[in-house]
Amino acid sequence: MEKLLAEALVRDVPDFPKPGILFKDITPVLQDYDALKQVIDKMTEQSRPLKVDAVVGIEARGFIFGAPLALELEVGFVPLRKLGKLPYNRLVEEYALEYGTNTVEIHTDSIKPGQRVLIVDDVLATGGTAAAAARLVERAGGQVAGLCFLIELDFLEGRKALEKYPIISLIHYQE
Ligand code: AMP
Repeated sequence: MEKLLAEALVRDVPDFPKPGILFKDITPVLQDYDALKQVIDKMTEQSRPLKVDAVVGIEARGFIFGAPLALELEVGFVPLRKLGKLPYNRLVEEYALEYGTNTVEIHTDSIKPGQRVLIVDDVLATGGTAAAAARLVERAGGQVAGLCFLIELDFLEGRKALEKYPIISLIHYQE
């Protein structure tokens, strides 16, 4: 497989947001038009066969890739947000983190019954966030057609939490 321009631009930031985490900083990818364009083109190419009716982006970095991808696929975009950010009627899903819990929400009327949905985020790590997003999409009446990430941290085995679904990830890290 051809190497993506983005691969050389992802920046490793140690101990962010807390000690022991090696943070994959995608901002240098976003700053580079050719790299960003190539990422959106690849995501479009690989997700088109899934024939989706909507794209759900996970706050916040999932919005950055999700909205242009939705435009390319000629479908609408739905934001999946952290607790307390969405103004209208919401479905709520809480999930466990290493320490504590996190909560994500989606508008009740954001997905039409039976719609095929693509869930988008920047990084697949343990898969907890993406699995919660998938549960919300299904509770909202949608069908998860697949998930799309720029980066997958293979060693965290996030795929195991998403076994039922096709997964697209453009850059893999083994450690
Ligand atoms: P998880 O639920 O463990 O799969 O974590 C996924 C979410 O946390 C995504 O929204 C990512 O943006 C973020 N995330 C987790 N680990 C990292 C990392 N090492 N670098 C950058 N973002 C991360």
